[in-house]
Amino acid sequence: MKINLQDTFTTELPADPITENTRRQVANACFSYVTPKKTKKPELIHFSNEMAKDLGFSDTDTKTSEFLNIVTGNTIIENSKPYAMCYGGHQFGNWAGQLGDGRAINLGEINHNNKRWALQLKGAGETPYSRTADGLAVLRSSIREYLLSEAMHYLGIPTTRALSLSLSGDQVLRDVLYNGNPDYEKGAIVARVAPSFLRFGNFEIFSSRQDYKTLKKLVHYTIKHFYPDIKQDSKEGYIQFFKAVSERTLKMIIEWQRVGFVHGVMNTDNMSILGLTIDYGPYGWLEGYEPGWTPNTTDRQNKRYRYGNQPNIGLWNLYQLANALYPLIENAEPFEEILESYKNDYATGYLNMMKAKIGLFSENQDDALLLSNLEDTLQLLETDMTIFFRNLSSIEKNDSIVTALEKIKDAFYLPEDFNGDNLTKWEIWFTSYLQRLKQEDITDKVRKEKMNAVNPKYVLRNYMAQLAIDKADKKDYSLIKEFYTLLKKPYDEQPAYEKWFAKRPDWARNKVGCSMLSCSS
Ligand code: AMP
Ligand code: MG
Repeated sequence: MKINLQDTFTTELPADPITENTRRQVANACFSYVTPKKTKKPELIHFSNEMAKDLGFSDTDTKTSEFLNIVTGNTIIENSKPYAMCYGGHQFGNWAGQLGDGRAINLGEINHNNKRWALQLKGAGETPYSRTADGLAVLRSSIREYLLSEAMHYLGIPTTRALSLSLSGDQVLRDVLYNGNPDYEKGAIVARVAPSFLRFGNFEIFSSRQDYKTLKKLVHYTIKHFYPDIKQDSKEGYIQFFKAVSERTLKMIIEWQRVGFVHGVMNTDNMSILGLTIDYGPYGWLEGYEPGWTPNTTDRQNKRYRYGNQPNIGLWNLYQLANALYPLIENAEPFEEILESYKNDYATGYLNMMKAKIGLFSENQDDALLLSNLEDTLQLLETDMTIFFRNLSSIEKNDSIVTALEKIKDAFYLPEDFNGDNLTKWEIWFTSYLQRLKQEDITDKVRKEKMNAVNPKYVLRNYMAQLAIDKADKKDYSLIKEFYTLLKKPYDEQPAYEKWFAKRPDWARNKVGCSMLSCSS
């Protein structure tokens, strides 16, 4: 098998001189060399054909045991020197010190068709950064990461990708509910792919240690390879770099808001320096539209990472990155300007995104009010976000309030409560909306097409992931395959899969795995 490895990270940045795999603080280095753990009985559950092709694996390659062994860390690619990255991070608002790739091992960078991709195994064993944990991952969280990272790509949202999902054949001990009842679960490994897995935390760690020399090297490296339009070696360049990161982060978060994705753990170690959605842990999807919702049980008290707070947290995280880069520039003003413009750009970007979701493309001063009224009205009754926005596209300019309401009422979880004051408020909103639609000069048909291109019909609802997990636990991988195929075309009508365009069933409400998740993975 011919794999074209061309490492830039390990060849251009300082390595940890210690090569023993012992848990420790690593100074003055961006990474430590480490070998993945051999697994008992690796088994490939699924792989992404597209990603395999992008990396240069042929159809024949992916059928070999060598492929399986590579994506589970049992065979080291020729000339590969696997490594774990050193990073720190702010977790839930507090500086947490050194974190690092505790269970992700990078195999190297594959160069194919003039594109370079870092390939990383998540769950491939302990590293110097494993702290008190085992370096492994379980099947349930690996299924969730595998399915959703590819699904996000097909939703058009910047994300890390996934090449494969495999069982390691080893058993992994986890206390899912954090209640002192640990149990064995199947171990799994996801081979993840991205241009780079660098996080805000990779920069913060050096700044926190006042190691500005290594910080500077890392900034140079990142600009050179991932922000090539920026001229290097100047304070001006570093500021442009920060601005570019800020813009990408903002763009990513607006996309999350568009589809109702809640990351769940927006710590700075989970913020990609390329503005990619990274580290799929206890994420979730809004079912009922509820800005205060978070799937992460660890965050139940403060709901720091709730849906409606993601844009603010993006900004908070950028402040931490600004602090980390400050020593290279020693002038706060340009940072402040960029952070200030994040707020304005967010307001404008969010408004335009939401306008597109409701099919408004012309200018009207009152649109912001119409949308904030919609957000309030959506919370009167539990209203399924995905179904509401998708069905809204069927509304025509000549609909009456009654016929319009008829088209969206499937989105209510308790249609029997759709009366009285609730009904009146919805009627008021639709009165304004139908009036506003008449000012749009595009046809109903064109508007519907445009709306359907931003309002997905199919998303990986929380309970769907859990159904796939429950089956996979019994060695039935059919739902993984089905969802993988379904979610490749999230905006298309797919009559064969219509049953997944449905509200969360009642049994899934408040069920662990279906609406709430712990960080245990
Ligand atoms: P996360 O909250 O999953 O983003 O992880 C935070 C930190 O904990 C990162 O440094 C991870 O590498 C590390 N970590 C999470 N789970 C494990 C594990 N099972 N073994 C070792 N390190 C882990
Ligand atoms: Mg993480």
